[in-house]
Amino acid sequence: MPELPEVETVRRSLRPVIGRRIEAVEVFEARLRRPLASDFAHRLSGHVVEDIKRRGKYLLFRLSGGDTLLAHLGMSGALLLQAAGVAREAHDHVRLQLSGAAQLTFNDPRRFGLLDLGHGEEFPELGNVGPDPLDEAFSLAAFIALTRGRKKPVKNLLMDQRALGGIGNIYANEILFRARVRPGRQAHRLTRAELARLFDATRAVLAHAIALGGSSISDYRDATGRPGYFHLRLAVYDRAGKPCPRCRTPVRHAVHAGRSSFYCPTCQR
Ligand SMILES: [Zn+2]
Repeated sequence: MPELPEVETVRRSLRPVIGRRIEAVEVFEARLRRPLASDFAHRLSGHVVEDIKRRGKYLLFRLSGGDTLLAHLGMSGALLLQAAGVAREAHDHVRLQLSGAAQLTFNDPRRFGLLDLGHGEEFPELGNVGPDPLDEAFSLAAFIALTRGRKKPVKNLLMDQRALGGIGNIYANEILFRARVRPGRQAHRLTRAELARLFDATRAVLAHAIALGGSSISDYRDATGRPGYFHLRLAVYDRAGKPCPRCRTPVRHAVHAGRSSFYCPTCQR
């Protein structure tokens, strides 16, 4: 499932879309996570894409006239920027014909992805998205405040989209390894020093992953079809039994809230 670094990589690879006009919209399959409104294509056509922002795992295409196209890649979605005329492939559900002989195609085999059109940031989904950990305004104090009274494993807190937007299972495991904190520790019991390490590790791991174009697990690719390379640098995720890159102790596997946790029993306390 694409997480913050993959969505940010997609956002950056979509920069050539900014300034182009949406000349026509084709809907081949309206049944996504939520069905597309019957007037979706009509309302989207004719607008110029003025900017592309990200909040957590959501992309927001700001359109001329004040409307926004909201996109979420779900489990397997991809937004592909193509030359006009590239033939439709399996699971291509929506296609935007753009000025300058380009087209933007939404492909999603599992159809958990989302496209929606609304005004500004008025989408029900965004009301539940917590602060973006890479937002300059997100501080250590704000991070510490999130943990107060949270009697649940810190890994669940990192992955709670209402607390922090954009972190899923892969990066939660990697962040906790870098911060040397065990995934099952209760969030409200962490020391200030541990929370500071966790805050720094969150930004460092996400920034490093973005620099490498994200992780290409389950066919993720950016808008130009390029894979990411961060999965080659994963320290603990999906590495049960393999040596910890820091101390060579075999990486251990556990399950928290139904999701796989991977950690080093020596480095992470
Ligand atoms: Zn270790």
